[in-house]
Amino acid sequence: MAANAIREGKIVVFPTETVYGIGANALDEEASRRIFEIKGRAGDNPLIVHVSNIEMAERIAEIPREYRSAIERVWPAPLTLILKSRGRVAPSVTAGLDTVAVRMPAHDVALALIRESGVPVAAPSANLSKKPSSTSAAHALSYFNGKADIIIDSGRSAYGLESTVLDLEEFKVLRPGAFTPDDIEEIFGSVPSIESETFEKPKSPGTKYRHYSPSTPLFLSEVEVKELASILKDFGRSYEIGFIGSSDSCKRLRRYAKHRISLGRSDDLYSIASNLFDALIKIDEKGADFAVIEGFEERGIGIAIMNRIKKASDHKKFSNVSELEMLVRHLPGC
Ligand code: AMP
Ligand code: MG
Repeated sequence: MAANAIREGKIVVFPTETVYGIGANALDEEASRRIFEIKGRAGDNPLIVHVSNIEMAERIAEIPREYRSAIERVWPAPLTLILKSRGRVAPSVTAGLDTVAVRMPAHDVALALIRESGVPVAAPSANLSKKPSSTSAAHALSYFNGKADIIIDSGRSAYGLESTVLDLEEFKVLRPGAFTPDDIEEIFGSVPSIESETFEKPKSPGTKYRHYSPSTPLFLSEVEVKELASILKDFGRSYEIGFIGSSDSCKRLRRYAKHRISLGRSDDLYSIASNLFDALIKIDEKGADFAVIEGFEERGIGIAIMNRIKKASDHKKFSNVSELEMLVRHLPGC
């Protein structure tokens, strides 16, 4: 049914191993445009095209000969490749670029949907623009009820973070994600460079937009949990404080932050990753005046975790009382 819907130019939300995607036939300009419309996504932010086999990738993009065997080995995986476009996907999908982002997702339902549709499926993350990505069908339903034609519920996403976007021409990570630099080195035999996010005209247009933000003002703590407890102590008298962090930190802050959401054990970064977007969505149900999120080690998948946390907090961070005072002073209504 869902595959028929895709062929008919309809919009289908489907699970992948990274996050849920909101998909349409990538060859159909009208259908692809509807994705931008429904998400409120800027037209200059191209979509990732999902394929179910290498031949399908080859129909829409040029696969460099030197990388072909590595790509055959690595896919399906949470790794999106920027390849030279053959100009066959709808123009809105690539936002007019001469490259196209392609990925084969490691999820049986996603692969079956694409295979049965018989067409490549353009699908960005299933969230309204600027909001946290969906890691469950319930999240997607809260964003797209009545707007998407079909939503497939397949439980929680395994990684909970979007794919890594790798530009093969420059061998550069344009967006860190679920596939770590170590994973890339293992498959391709060399370490990729990583695009700096401060770059004025980023090669991956999507990275310049604000992202993943809850409505609750969110600040990144750059101090140890013990110090954070002493900082929050004073604020607790005047504000309802939310906290997102490891299970251990949640326990230690139970007297200082009224609303706490645990991401799991701090030594299990894959668990932290899989719970992050759900926490960023749930924090808005708590009614906190502001929320604090703690940082994690920037290694392996921690690089992608911290990328999302920095964006979700709009780069607002503190490492002492006066810096938090400054942030709180600028809260709406203060
Ligand atoms: P999303 O699907 O919402 O997770 O976002 C897809 C990401 O891939 C965005 O950051 C896009 O800017 C990036 N992307 C898609 N197509 C291209 C492309 N041809 N060149 C560079 N980045 C791309
Ligand atoms: Mg997205």
